[in-house]
Amino acid sequence: MIEHDRPRDECGVFGIHGHPEAAKITYFGLYALQHRGQESAGIAVANDKRIDVHKGMGLVHEIYTMEDLEKLPGTSAIGHVRYSTTGGSVLANAQPFTARHKNKTYAVAHNGNLVNAHILKEELEEMGSIFQTTMDSEVAIHLFIRNVQRGFVDGMVETVSRLKGAFSFVILTGKGELIGIKDPNGFRPLCLGRLNGHYLLASETCALDLVQAEFVRELEPGEIVIIDDSGIRSIMPETRVTPSMCIFEYIYFARPDSTIAGRNVYQMRKAHGKRLAREAPVEADFVMPFPDSGNYAALGYSEESGIPFEMAMIRNHYVGRSFIQPTQSMRDFAVRIKLNPVKEQIKGKDIIIIEDSIIRGTTARTRVKALRELGAKKVHMRISCPPHRFPCYYGIDFSTKGELIAATKTIDELRDYLGLDSLHYLSIEGMLAAGGVENPERHFCKACFDGKYPVPFDPSISKNCLGD
Ligand code: SF4
Repeated sequence: MIEHDRPRDECGVFGIHGHPEAAKITYFGLYALQHRGQESAGIAVANDKRIDVHKGMGLVHEIYTMEDLEKLPGTSAIGHVRYSTTGGSVLANAQPFTARHKNKTYAVAHNGNLVNAHILKEELEEMGSIFQTTMDSEVAIHLFIRNVQRGFVDGMVETVSRLKGAFSFVILTGKGELIGIKDPNGFRPLCLGRLNGHYLLASETCALDLVQAEFVRELEPGEIVIIDDSGIRSIMPETRVTPSMCIFEYIYFARPDSTIAGRNVYQMRKAHGKRLAREAPVEADFVMPFPDSGNYAALGYSEESGIPFEMAMIRNHYVGRSFIQPTQSMRDFAVRIKLNPVKEQIKGKDIIIIEDSIIRGTTARTRVKALRELGAKKVHMRISCPPHRFPCYYGIDFSTKGELIAATKTIDELRDYLGLDSLHYLSIEGMLAAGGVENPERHFCKACFDGKYPVPFDPSISKNCLGD
């Protein structure tokens, strides 16, 4: 796959309560969240105590026609776009996942990764639970159903206290109640919006924008909201956890038009680029991104340094998602299919490339080689985050440590491997300073950069906690 050299997020979630066109609004919400997962998508609608679901493999627009959405009547719905971090990429693992118990139906959509799913699954199996999928989200719904038998709110609080790791959930009941849950660390974003008096939940504010909903607020870390016909209730279980929002949402995952925890992603990326220009200045004819990933940091670098910004590589927006590359030469084609350099702009020039991250380095190496072949005199690279030296266990698909090139090479070795004249990464301090918050260590997870994991996990268990 062309994208395999890029980190991939795991999911986006959306939900709406009490709207006459719940399925259609959810469809458009998922459209806006497509960048968070492109393997499968699903919509579940509560309709007269039952829940109807339509899921499929592929992109949102490939899965649904307007006729499909007409066949999903009901006024409350949840939706999900998925890239698999736990469980294989098969339709059975597409979400929302539904479960039926004692004539009650529930649907759940999850963004994140539970680091104790394997322990909980074993416990539940001991108690007789039978699992249909390999998703950690199914473990959560089993636990939830078991616990709510003792009372809905207490059951949810108990469930949240047992789950470890990253989770932003939207849950739908057959009666049409919509529930949103954010884990106590607040790893993944989840926000609340309102459209003509109807509440919505979405992974990112860009989904609220698309359906023209107003932003109400972010869910607090650890918060549970229950939305029903009587309005909205918020439950804040007591927790002693220090929040640790994923800082990589700002650098790479979230859409630049989204705002998370009060900070706009576009502006954060520009701030990272500006800081990078101060930390690692170099003379050149122009600054360029590898579009689209480095665009906004490159704008910031250019603005701060006074070096002109150019788009000297042009992105082909019509590349399919599954270009198979069995040989090295085919792999090279694949990289070139996506981005093509503007020859006339490059010959004889000193260039600064801004990238947002390097994971395996294979794609960057091919692109630098292409610039050299076209006559670039000097090629410098600046990365708008620190080196990725540690895997993520909270729902982001970084390679294992051995595949993270910055974990196996020094910066000088990496510079030579990529064929660059110079290479610099943004410092951890610089990345945190751009957030403009006091005591940033108490706000963000940055474990993939410094190995300080905010939620402990069993290192003998692979990232895929259910072991499939
Ligand atoms: Fe985000 Fe990195 Fe923490 Fe994973 S380890 S949650 S990618 S900051």
